[in-house]
Amino acid sequence: MTAPWIFSSALLADAPPVLLPSVWRVALIDLAYLAASVLFIFGLKGMTHPRTAVRGNFLGSAGMLIAVLVTLLDQNIVGYGYIVAGLVVGSVIGAIMSVKCKMTGMPQLVALLNGLGGAASVLVAGAVLFDPSFFMGADKLPRPDVLIGTAASGWIGAITFTGSLVAFAKLEEYKFVKDFRFTGQQALNTALALGSLALWYPVAAGPSASGSLAIMILTYWLMVILASALGIMLVISIGGADMPVVIALFNSYSGLAAAATGFVLGNSVLIISGSLVGASGIILTQIMCKAMNRSWTNVLFGTMAASGGPAVSNDEAYARVKSTSYDEVAMLLDVARRVVIVPGYGLAVAQAQHAVRDLTTMLTERNIQVEFAIHPVAGRMPGHMNVLLAEADIPYEMLKEMDQINPTMGQVDVALIIGANDVVNTLARTDPRCPIAGMPIIDADKARTVVVIKRSLSPGFAGIHNPLFAADNTLMLFADGRKAIIDLINALEQV
Ligand code: NDP
Repeated sequence: MTAPWIFSSALLADAPPVLLPSVWRVALIDLAYLAASVLFIFGLKGMTHPRTAVRGNFLGSAGMLIAVLVTLLDQNIVGYGYIVAGLVVGSVIGAIMSVKCKMTGMPQLVALLNGLGGAASVLVAGAVLFDPSFFMGADKLPRPDVLIGTAASGWIGAITFTGSLVAFAKLEEYKFVKDFRFTGQQALNTALALGSLALWYPVAAGPSASGSLAIMILTYWLMVILASALGIMLVISIGGADMPVVIALFNSYSGLAAAATGFVLGNSVLIISGSLVGASGIILTQIMCKAMNRSWTNVLFGTMAASGGPAVSNDEAYARVKSTSYDEVAMLLDVARRVVIVPGYGLAVAQAQHAVRDLTTMLTERNIQVEFAIHPVAGRMPGHMNVLLAEADIPYEMLKEMDQINPTMGQVDVALIIGANDVVNTLARTDPRCPIAGMPIIDADKARTVVVIKRSLSPGFAGIHNPLFAADNTLMLFADGRKAIIDLINALEQV
């Protein structure tokens, strides 16, 4: 497995190797991997604050470039022909997917990518079992580090692959995965988990413990099948509104699978980058769980309940909705002392961030205090609103997290909700059967006046009505988010 020279041209498998003794090659590769890992860590650190995020992104990308280049140059397993073919096929599929993917499809795309990461881990670990030189030591004994890594890679990878596909199907709202529940589901999940974990042993113990190499390989694939079934069962009963948490969790799982694959291939940078993805994914899952008031263990073991929607018709729920005009909202804003803008997914769809920045500038020039209330799951990806508002150079100090702003919402003159729905839906507090039951919301309803800008009374992601739209202190401004803000600025200029 270990080639003694670097820079050998594997396109021509028997081309003469180029000039670097083995000990130097290993040292140089390890040094480069170390540098890449340090860049990943500084990159992640940079991304914890919007001001340093661009630099963080750059450092992370530079680390990845080094890791990829060094791995390509060190290619002692696969020839350049396969590498180039893989790059071309992957790049074409990736480019088509990213061009075709709409903003609304972002979570689906992330789910799919997590799933592919899991599938890659399953295949790499499975392929390694065909070549004993990978997992048998010089002493002719099986290497537990590689074989445990193989079992872990296959197990986590398979759960990630099928679980992510189900998450994808749920987000796409395919009917066959909707609210699928049956009695004995937990017992089946437990049996699948224990059964697949039990098969780790014959894989990790090596060919002689299994009986033969062929049986060991078969056992690996049996474990993969059981783990794949477990992945499906874990996600199938989770309601669509809880999918952000599931996607964050599978993001973490895909990192853990990659880290395990790092042990299989003896690739330190894969171990480190996989662990970083695994750890940051778990932290993100925890943040999302807190934001949605979901139990961490319920997510982890797939026991989150699907919920029934409230049986209220739109006519019934929205009988007392009041719509308003630009002039009326402009007057309200002009006399306000404190305005809180609540951005949501619709602001991203409307691409209203630049118009919102202009409105913010106009209001602050009139000595009106303007803040933005940021819900952790607003939009369609973690940090969606922060990214959007940063893109329009809205000062970061104006952005307030939900926990920070909620206690002060009672002193707000106007809560201006732009394209947000679920994150301000008061049903989360009052209806224990609704899909977002118990999810903390931005307390926009506590403001003196609430102005909601959206195009219609259609529901948000959770698919339920929102009593806030019919509240006594709420005025609806029906329009596209960007057009509404531009027209509002024009109306304000006349006041
Ligand atoms: P919602 O999806 O609840 O609501 C968005 C609203 O925006 C809709 O009701 C829509 O109403 C309105 N809208 C759409 N286009 C426009 C437009 N051009 N102009 C004005 N309004 C528009 O968004 P929220 O941000 O409130 O909540 C996010 C939801 O997404 C949560 O349920 C969350 O769990 C889920 N989610 C979040 C993820 C994350 O990581 N952040 C990932 C996956 C899901 P209308 O059509 O009437 O205009």
